Amino acid sequence: MATSQNGYRANDRSLIASYSVPGGKLAMRKGDVATVLSYVANRFHSEVELLVWPGNWGYAERTIRGNSTTLSNHASGTAIDLNAPRHPLGKVGTFSSAQKGRIKKILADCGGVVRWGGNYNGRKDEMHFEINAGTAAVAKVAKAIKAGKKPGPSGGATSSGGSSSPTYTTVTGSTPLVKLYHKGEPVKRIQKAVGVKVDGYFGKDTQTAVKAYQKKRGLDADGIVGAKTWAKINGKSSSSSSGSSSSGKVTSKAPAFPLPKGHWYGVESKNKKNHSGYYKSDQAGIKQFQNKLKARGWKITADGKFGPATQKVVRQFQAEKKISVDGAVGQVTWSKIWESPVT
Ligand SMILES: [Zn+2]
Repeated sequence: MATSQNGYRANDRSLIASYSVPGGKLAMRKGDVATVLSYVANRFHSEVELLVWPGNWGYAERTIRGNSTTLSNHASGTAIDLNAPRHPLGKVGTFSSAQKGRIKKILADCGGVVRWGGNYNGRKDEMHFEINAGTAAVAKVAKAIKAGKKPGPSGGATSSGGSSSPTYTTVTGSTPLVKLYHKGEPVKRIQKAVGVKVDGYFGKDTQTAVKAYQKKRGLDADGIVGAKTWAKINGKSSSSSSGSSSSGKVTSKAPAFPLPKGHWYGVESKNKKNHSGYYKSDQAGIKQFQNKLKARGWKITADGKFGPATQKVVRQFQAEKKISVDGAVGQVTWSKIWESPVT
């Protein structure tokens, strides 16, 4: 029987299943191992660094890199790599000391059954987390995780075939109560408003940003988005009043589109119909819609230049308004920026 470095049976696909973690799925060893490693991945996502896909891996039939005989713990589904491109094998210091502290805490909460590749004596592997204990010890930790006795979200992976029970609770609707470990479309709107990465998962980073957002607006800084915070998010506070005449009332009639018919504002290109703000004459119009987006609660700098940051916001706006997502502001998008209801 082939075993991986930590003694678990390896190269046997029947022991493996796919488990949902924030943003994607990881193939891991069924049962307690998956419960513990899912727990690690979830807490990594909410406390250390958002998981970015692709770049997270579980089961793989292979030997340890640089070693032709010993099977990697990935071959038994007892190891995962998180945000691999950011934390390449052999590289040290890919996490800040604050992040390392949080990793240490997660490992401590796993009762020592998980080892981090950043703690290897030899070549470091900072993307890598693996089971480093026998089945009895792992079962004990998995049981505590499932019972919710560990800090942070519960692990919640299920065994073969079933749908995984998510660590994050899905919320829907226009202004639901949203708090830590919720996920869904309303979370995205909150993230846009408070200026954190828009991934739809209300983790610790989002919670911190919400608290700051609430504090700044004289609300109870509890990190929970209820009616009062929603009212602010939904544009009843137009914070950008930097002397711009275009802010103020959020929904109104759009001013005339400043460009000739068939032209648009977009990131710099050779197309003669495209206006990027390279020419000074185009900057006022760009500033005008940037200010309006800002007044609607989007995180955007009104600098009169159509760069990648503006393009990103425009894309998000178009997706939200269900109009063609081309990242450019033509007549249609321009009108929507003024006339579509703030949602
Ligand atoms: Zn690995």
